[in-house]
Amino acid sequence: MRTLLMNGKIYLEKGRFEEALSIKEGFVEAVGSTESILATRRPQDEVVDLRGKTVLPGFNDSHLHLFLLGEAMTSCNLNGAVSIDEMIERGKVYLSNNKKEKGIHGRGWNQDFFKTVDKRLPSREDLDLISSDIPIVYERVCGHVAVGNTRAMELAGITEDTKIPGGTIERNPEGILSGVVTENATQVLVKSLSQKSKQAKKSQFIQAGKYVLSQGITSVQSCDVSGEDFQKTFDWIREVYEERVLPLRYRHQFNFQRIEDFRRYLESEHLNGRYDDEFYQKGSLKLFKDGSLGGRTALLSKPYADDPATKGVEALKDDELQELCQLAQDSGIPVITHAIGDGAVESVLNTYENVLQGKSNFLRHGIVHNQITTKNQLERIVSGGIAVMAQPVFLDYDLHIVKKRVGEELAKTSYAFNTLYQQGALISIGTDAPVEDSNPFRNIYAAVTRMDQNGYPEGGYLPKERMTIEESVDAYTYQGAKNQFQEKIKGKLLPGYYADLIVLDRDIFTINLSEISETQVEITMVEGKVAYMKE
Ligand SMILES: [Zn+2]
Repeated sequence: MRTLLMNGKIYLEKGRFEEALSIKEGFVEAVGSTESILATRRPQDEVVDLRGKTVLPGFNDSHLHLFLLGEAMTSCNLNGAVSIDEMIERGKVYLSNNKKEKGIHGRGWNQDFFKTVDKRLPSREDLDLISSDIPIVYERVCGHVAVGNTRAMELAGITEDTKIPGGTIERNPEGILSGVVTENATQVLVKSLSQKSKQAKKSQFIQAGKYVLSQGITSVQSCDVSGEDFQKTFDWIREVYEERVLPLRYRHQFNFQRIEDFRRYLESEHLNGRYDDEFYQKGSLKLFKDGSLGGRTALLSKPYADDPATKGVEALKDDELQELCQLAQDSGIPVITHAIGDGAVESVLNTYENVLQGKSNFLRHGIVHNQITTKNQLERIVSGGIAVMAQPVFLDYDLHIVKKRVGEELAKTSYAFNTLYQQGALISIGTDAPVEDSNPFRNIYAAVTRMDQNGYPEGGYLPKERMTIEESVDAYTYQGAKNQFQEKIKGKLLPGYYADLIVLDRDIFTINLSEISETQVEITMVEGKVAYMKE
């Protein structure tokens, strides 16, 4: 059976629109005027009248954490809490609504949003006020800083003598554990919480998948696998795909900070091609070089302008990064490295240049976030063909702090997404959900206006870095596909491409810019079949 979409405003690719297209066996078959497509109509064809609606290729979120998004949707939500008291209160409410829980995993706090005079970090003692019987871990919105109650610290085995490479364990002024930990130590703290059953994990994952489909995302590049337990996570995600219950195209970004774990992965069955298909792919090695700007754990080349005592945190030393990247290169696996500060970006570029030795970057190694950059680094990204997975929506918060954190001069060449795009860099867009909501329209709004959701600052932050709507859609679709080597079949609506598309409730290309974030998806189609329909 064929499906004919007619009378629409269909964005085929950058600079090109048509009224109609036909779909056959999951692929776009032909595009053209309504008249020309209807002329090919056969009796059994399904015809959909778009009534002037705008259609885009489905979005491809080039970096998020789908399973964590599912967890965040069901766990204690701390987003927008304006005080430590409120964080404590939310924990108590969560516990009274979920009496059987054997621990609380809260997410989303940010001390910069506190309305209290004192913007101190929450402490172990604060969380003990919720409960001292069960472990409680509250992760900061960035996921790079967390605080545990006394029980969580005990169960994680963190004492005053514990040392965790690539992470810190903070103390209060009296020298006692404050409960706050950063980077690699957050994962150790989170392990104090009991593991969910496989069934519960699968259902959270599917819930998140359906959620992103409702937002118009048809492909994700998702980091859900990490560390030594990788096999289990790979297995249950593969099961979800074998059960064919989630029509969302998925590509792994697996995180191994330790070379032993990566070696074990390379020796495992996962490399035997057993699970590369149209919906499920192995993907890239994801590494972390640093932390977050908000938490002052992003690695800068110079001390923080607003805290000269620190330059940030190095989650991987240069020699470890080099060893992991070399092994990935030798094994034909792309590497993408989380780098937010210019110190981290510098180290990652140096490493990639070392590994490539002047050869072309055919594996499309890339940088996730790539926020604080120098002019020289931007040039090296372009000339080296280094991929960038950007999150414009981070500006909503970061535009308020970036100058304070890194100083005026460095801020000028940071978040330079349009510069990269215009110079032909392989820049794709994602949300890093659940760090931000996975909503693509808020992200496009940020890319296009460079303003926060309240319209600040007027004219946009560094206005020359504003992208056009077509460019940001291109980065969110075609460039995302390119980032995963699928640009010949995904990310455009041309003949031969996947019929992964979305129908919008308004014309994103002509509406008032302030309205972009409100855009909703009416229909999501994946391989020409309806995967979501608004009620
Ligand atoms: Zn991430």
